[in-house]
Amino acid sequence: MLSSGAPAPQQVLAPLSHTPKPAKTMLEPAVIQCPYCWEQLEVFVDPSVRDQEYVEDCQVCCQPILIHAWFDADDQLHLTAAPEND
Ligand SMILES: [Zn+2]
Repeated sequence: MLSSGAPAPQQVLAPLSHTPKPAKTMLEPAVIQCPYCWEQLEVFVDPSVRDQEYVEDCQVCCQPILIHAWFDADDQLHLTAAPEND
């Protein structure tokens, strides 16, 4: 059954390869607390990765901190910091 009414609106989609990426490498600053020495540390999270886990050495006590950073549906950044050898 074909509808011969209004013409279908043409959806213009730019081909992905042609879309110039804004290439924003703006990192999201956040503060975590070292699970070893409880110092507050500033970390920078790449917002293009919605869910990431990485190890960063504490700037104060140099122990490896397992950082889990993720963005929720409201683009809110969440962070957890845990001892790497847990
Ligand atoms: Zn520390």
